[in-house]
Amino acid sequence: MALDDDIERVLWTDEQISKRVTELAGQITRDFAGESLTESYPVVVGVATGAFLFLADLVRKIKLPVTVDFIRAESYGSGTVSNGAPRISFDLKVGIQGKHVILVEDIVDTGNTLSCLIAYLESRGASSVSVCTLLDKPARRKVNFELLGTGKFYCGFECPDYFVVGYGLDFAELYRNLPYVGILKPEIYS
Ligand code: 5GP
Ligand code: MG
Ligand code: MG
Repeated sequence: MALDDDIERVLWTDEQISKRVTELAGQITRDFAGESLTESYPVVVGVATGAFLFLADLVRKIKLPVTVDFIRAESYGSGTVSNGAPRISFDLKVGIQGKHVILVEDIVDTGNTLSCLIAYLESRGASSVSVCTLLDKPARRKVNFELLGTGKFYCGFECPDYFVVGYGLDFAELYRNLPYVGILKPEIYS
């Protein structure tokens, strides 16, 4: 039973992901270089569980002091379609009052999760919220989220409208450990 058997097609290899993560981290380093000295260090917040690999690779390439934390927002269950407004089921440990937050996501799909998380981080006093997502599926957007303050949007790759897994992304909590991102064979989830 090989893990790869359920994958129809690879969209981004581990080499392509690594190269793109280096570029994103370089951009973040340049954008936040002045901020971290004058105000406070940025807080990198990973959205669990999907962002764990992306976050781990990204922060090792950001050449600035940052703090790292996780938050969990649940809306998906084990299916492939979002079931509406997510709730925060695992909260931050670090304080973000007056801080620049960089929210790290695996994928932005309808935008539900992100708009809910940005509103939450704002209510906790973040001075800005940026978003760094590995994948963006703009074709499926339902909610147009707004970044907070001077926040910026960073995106690894624009994702075609398929259900994808790997490099942190799951189906029913499986496939997260694939080193690449690929399209899951439809017979697996239908
Ligand atoms: P949204 O709230 O934007 O609709 O969905 C965000 C979350 O849905 C993502 O963080 C991710 O967990 C899940 N999701 C959306 N599209 C995909 C996909 O193609 N593959 C996987 N594995 N998860 C997805
Ligand atoms: Mg996610
Ligand atoms: Mg999931």
